[in-house]
Amino acid sequence: MKSLWKETEENIVSDKKELNEDLSADVCVIGGGITGISTAYYLSKSGMKVILLERDSLADKTTGNSTAKITSQHGLFYKYLLDDFGKDFARKYYLANQEAINRIAEIVKSENIDCDFEWQDAYVFTADSKELSKIKDEVEAVKSFGGEADFVEKIEPNLNNVKGAIKFPHQAKFNPRKYVKGLVEQIENCGSKIYENSKVISVENKNDEYIVWADKAYVKAKYVVVATNYPIINAPRFLFY
Ligand SMILES: Cc1cc2nc3c(=O)[nH]c(=O)nc-3n(C[C@H](O)[C@H](O)[C@H](O)COP(=O)(O)OP(=O)(O)OC[C@H]3O[C@@H](n4cnc5c(N)ncnc54)[C@H](O)[C@@H]3O)c2cc1C
Repeated sequence: MKSLWKETEENIVSDKKELNEDLSADVCVIGGGITGISTAYYLSKSGMKVILLERDSLADKTTGNSTAKITSQHGLFYKYLLDDFGKDFARKYYLANQEAINRIAEIVKSENIDCDFEWQDAYVFTADSKELSKIKDEVEAVKSFGGEADFVEKIEPNLNNVKGAIKFPHQAKFNPRKYVKGLVEQIENCGSKIYENSKVISVENKNDEYIVWADKAYVKAKYVVVATNYPIINAPRFLFY
């Protein structure tokens, strides 16, 4: 299966660099998807020297194959949050998601990133009348903590079989690889470094410092951020594969 984002933005960086000498930094970020690159962006902008190590190519895995929606809406999630974790938790989760959308919009604007960012409404719809009550319950759940959601009978684009939907206004979409490319340029402008084809094989903690070993060399850093989507380190409460 092809990814539209990979087809339209083939190269995140023009010259691939591999870690082949030992280096040091304030922070070593492991993983070059949107999580690792966003982390490296914020830390670099705050004045820290960051080295990011990516096993293969930047934004090529989940990020390069995602749906590209930037939303607070994740299926029918808020009724579950409300029932299992309470109103305050559900509200905080919603607000954190809305804040993330706004922050991406601000970065796109302030860094002038050409990534096809567009504000859009987001919908979860059903084509089955028997499922309508679940949609309506979700709308009520979101409204109960002050979130913005509406029950609608038509959605954009207009599909024939829609029986009802929950609409979230002020959501967005973009091309994730174009967005990440814009962040990478800013990270490098700040003097931080990114290395591809540099798989991390172990992380050691020595005298308040971390030694992050890749295939050919290591990075010594005061802090390490693991942004590999799936954990790579066997530590308490981490899944690993
Ligand atoms: C099909 C699908 C669609 C999705 N659509 C959306 C969406 O539309 N909107 C949304 O918000 N979320 C979506 N998600 C959720 C998605 O997981 C996140 O939004 C995001 O793309 C994950 O980014 P990431 O950086 O955490 O992971 P990834 O993009 O997977 O990046 C992790 C990186 O770590 C690297 N890595 C792994 N091991 C090592 C190692 N040992 N050393 C160095 N590097 C390593 C990998 O090579 C990879 O590049 C979707 C998920 C899936 C599965």
